[in-house]
Amino acid sequence: MNQYDVTVIGSGPGGYVAAIRCAQLGLKTALIEKYPTLGGTCLNVGCIPSKALLDSSEHYHNAHSVFEEHGIGLENLTVDMNRMIDRKAGVVKANVDGIAYLMKKNKIDVLTGVGSFLDKNHLSIAPTAGGEAQQIETKNVIIATGSKPTVLPFIAQDKQRIITSTEALNIREVPKHMIVIGGGVIGLEMASVYARLGAKVSVVEFMDSLIPTMDRGLGKELKRVLGKIGIEFFLSHKVTGATRDGDTVTVTALNPKGEEVKFEGDYCLVAVGRVPYTAGLNLEAAGVQMEERGRIKVGEHLQTNVPGIYAIGDVIRGAMLAHKAEEEGVYVAETIVGQKPHINYLLIPGVVYTWPEVAGVGYTEEQLKEQGKAYKVGSFPFKASGRARASGDTDGFVKVLADKTTDEILGVHMIGPRIADLIAEAVTAMEFRASAEDVARMSHSHPTYAEAMKEACLAATENRAIHM
Ligand code: FAD
Repeated sequence: MNQYDVTVIGSGPGGYVAAIRCAQLGLKTALIEKYPTLGGTCLNVGCIPSKALLDSSEHYHNAHSVFEEHGIGLENLTVDMNRMIDRKAGVVKANVDGIAYLMKKNKIDVLTGVGSFLDKNHLSIAPTAGGEAQQIETKNVIIATGSKPTVLPFIAQDKQRIITSTEALNIREVPKHMIVIGGGVIGLEMASVYARLGAKVSVVEFMDSLIPTMDRGLGKELKRVLGKIGIEFFLSHKVTGATRDGDTVTVTALNPKGEEVKFEGDYCLVAVGRVPYTAGLNLEAAGVQMEERGRIKVGEHLQTNVPGIYAIGDVIRGAMLAHKAEEEGVYVAETIVGQKPHINYLLIPGVVYTWPEVAGVGYTEEQLKEQGKAYKVGSFPFKASGRARASGDTDGFVKVLADKTTDEILGVHMIGPRIADLIAEAVTAMEFRASAEDVARMSHSHPTYAEAMKEACLAATENRAIHM
């Protein structure tokens, strides 16, 4: 029987990063993955394919609706969905092959099959394609089995017309009318893809705002801007059902007055969140405890109630984000060898890859109000940015929240061009506990979108923004 120092179950961004860090630290490491390709949700059916389609659809949208104002004429513009989806598959393949290469490079044993506990130190790996299960012995286990889409019990998802994000990444035609249930990150990213390609898109959301967990100002601006590409929003609508008849889907909902409304289309995307995935692990055999909402319970050092068994990523509490899972993977590997790593959960940024992009880190205004914290706000709109005017991306703003007395930055919330990258500046500043004035005094190259961050910090510092 093969013996390992650490066995990681699940090869998503939590699992494969944990495995690499364990190997770097000299631990004999195995990685179990039930699918033939590595990379988990993120690389196969999440972050990477969605961004590939967002980029492709953005090119089409620009060629169709934006090039003209730049003096570029195009005729006979077409969309070849087969080619677009095949390109996306190629992007995914390049990424998952890259992970397979990294496993080899780091001498990590990849075991393909469903991993389950026999007891706390023994695992069985049942090949997905059938055949005899393999058994291994391990000193430590890191559970990184991720999540799957939430199912609404009153909606039968046939995965052809009533679909999840996984199928929405593989539609080989432009829908006529896509009804998206859920105005969160995944729903809005997929809504953007298909609206840009010419589909009518209706987003039906239970809450009274989009991306409701982010700073409220962002959802409001995003709704306004996405409205410009034709997406229709139905907020405060409670979906009560979705049915399919041939190629037609009908979604019913109660509007804010409690009246029933109907939406008819050819696709319904159910994007109401994700739930932790632990099926098949046989956690009982190791005595691992769960907590509410199907999550694995972890305590200090992300260890479960069983010493030597850890859990990370979407399968435990916290934001369901790839970079959060990665940080936790590194954290556990370093903990196992006796190091004292640290994760600042407040500074894990949240990003939505619509256009304009949306990003936030630290406390929202709503949270600061709730805490009764005295804070000041500095805001800068992209319409006052020379770089944004040059590219024609003048929607959105950067908002900096700083402590009223000490000027320490407490939160940064942005909507605008390329701010998925710009949020890294806010994270760096906050990690080093910068004041708004610290950032305001740093030179930012001109012309860049990043100048909006400096200007917002200037605005928070005695209202000293220069270009406003
Ligand atoms: P996962 O990536 O879910 O990986 C878990 C792996 O474990 C899977 O490969 C699964 O097959 C395997 N597994 C499960 N059980 C077993 C078992 N018993 N034996 C063997 N293998 C098993 N996050 C971002 O940060 N940025 C984004 O832009 C972003 N976009 C997204 C877009 C979409 C459409 C979706 C669906 C998600 C997106 N996410 C994004 C979220 C991100 O994908 C997840 O937060 C991330 O993948 C979680 O990583 P993980 O390692 O915890 O689990």
